[in-house]
Amino acid sequence: MEKSKSSIPGFENFPGREVKFKTPYTFLEARRKTDGAEGLWRIRNNLYDLEGFAKFHPGGEEWIRLTKGTDITEIFESHHLTDKAAKLLPKYLVREAASPRKLPITFETNGFFSTFKRRALDALKHVDFHRPSRKTNFIADFLVGTTVLLSLAVAYTQSYLIVVPAGIFLAWTTVIGHNYFHMRNTFRMYYFDLSTMSSKDWRITHAMSHHVYPNTLWDYEIYSFEPFLFWLPDPTKSTLSGVVSQLASPLIWALGFYEQAIKRYYSVFLEYKRFEFRDAVPFFLPMSMSLFAPSVLVAVKLWLLIILAGSFVFFMIGVNAAHHHPDIFHDGDIYRDDFDWGILELDAVRERTVIDDSDFLVLTNFGLHGLHHLLPTVDHCYLPLCEKAFKKTCKEFGISTEKFSQWELVKGQFKQIVQLEPQSKPELLSKEKFQKSACNLPFICISLFGNLISWQGFTIGLQVEAWRECGTIQLGLERRSVWLENFRKDQCYYYYYFHLGSFTAVGHGSP
Ligand SMILES: [Zn+2]
Ligand SMILES: [Zn+2]
Repeated sequence: MEKSKSSIPGFENFPGREVKFKTPYTFLEARRKTDGAEGLWRIRNNLYDLEGFAKFHPGGEEWIRLTKGTDITEIFESHHLTDKAAKLLPKYLVREAASPRKLPITFETNGFFSTFKRRALDALKHVDFHRPSRKTNFIADFLVGTTVLLSLAVAYTQSYLIVVPAGIFLAWTTVIGHNYFHMRNTFRMYYFDLSTMSSKDWRITHAMSHHVYPNTLWDYEIYSFEPFLFWLPDPTKSTLSGVVSQLASPLIWALGFYEQAIKRYYSVFLEYKRFEFRDAVPFFLPMSMSLFAPSVLVAVKLWLLIILAGSFVFFMIGVNAAHHHPDIFHDGDIYRDDFDWGILELDAVRERTVIDDSDFLVLTNFGLHGLHHLLPTVDHCYLPLCEKAFKKTCKEFGISTEKFSQWELVKGQFKQIVQLEPQSKPELLSKEKFQKSACNLPFICISLFGNLISWQGFTIGLQVEAWRECGTIQLGLERRSVWLENFRKDQCYYYYYFHLGSFTAVGHGSP
């Protein structure tokens, strides 16, 4: 069940998907083979030698070391809000790259992302956004302290009941640790490592893969779950396997920390061949627990249970947070014509009601996730400062800022697992493109006839679209092969789907 063709025009398949034992290291290795960076650092079509600069990099040497031999255009643009980094670049220029860039993503000066970035920088001018906020630090320290105390209480009382809150606090500590590994090096990023997962690995799989290419073939957080959880629409996956995945989800969430711990130490010893301070951090909890438990063995057993509970909560929060819902773009769905990087981000994410209104919930639930994708290095507590700029820019570029409730996202995530068919979302097509796809009645008759005689597993639907702005009714054609159930409300139109034999009719009406 390997999916290898992207629906984003110009997006090439990512060879990292084909590797049997997928680790963060293999993601980078695949990038080195694919990106045409010729052993250097690639930004757009230029190659730079950042070797000498690495130890002066304000974000930390690690970012530079890990990305050697890859195309860093997207991370470079999204991680540097000011033009300071861009001004330094010419000094390190080596030559032009021999091959074209593998991805068609753009950062046009007047495009969505660059416009938003300028406004965000202005909105953040009164805070030191390069450093974590005091509020975040306080909440993080409180969470890690509570996790340690609860873990010690578990060891002392050997109470399975306390394992549950210890697991919840460990999960929250891990989520807030995510705020820190995105930023320049700070000791609080190691809070993340208490989970047994690696802050270094997540800088690769989350910051360099998921954040940059969410819900696409290049997203490690998509392909590393396959085939257990398969969110991309793919007609070759079966409904049965989707249902099994739905049922097995809680088990998959609970085993996530174990799985990542195994891969982590495999990479430490066999791939990176380097044991760092952060690789000792996961042992802090079991070691301190063993001082309070009757034996080391009992302490380890109880710690493994806390890890299990923490993993369950962490992945339950993570997979249901922002990215998976049939209304959210997944590679395979028909994509729009605009390849602006910021729009690619927002098409693959949805903000949430309630959670996004509280700093504590934002920090413990991957909240304000769209804004966080656009500004990954900005402390989550500073993101609300950019909301006005975000809404204004979205409005100008016709991007929806409609939020979902958490419950809507949970339901959507489970639905997405059994999503076989690519979706065509009219909101992703420009009005001009949609109008081009609309056609007149005689053509519909011809197509219907074609469908009736060929019966080739796909159907041609009649689509009625009402544009609110012009108030005209258009008739268009749409290829669909499944019954798209129910009724969805979008920004400015409604859709109705109904089904006659293999014939699917799609209705959209403005409210
Ligand atoms: Zn995300
Ligand atoms: Zn993130």
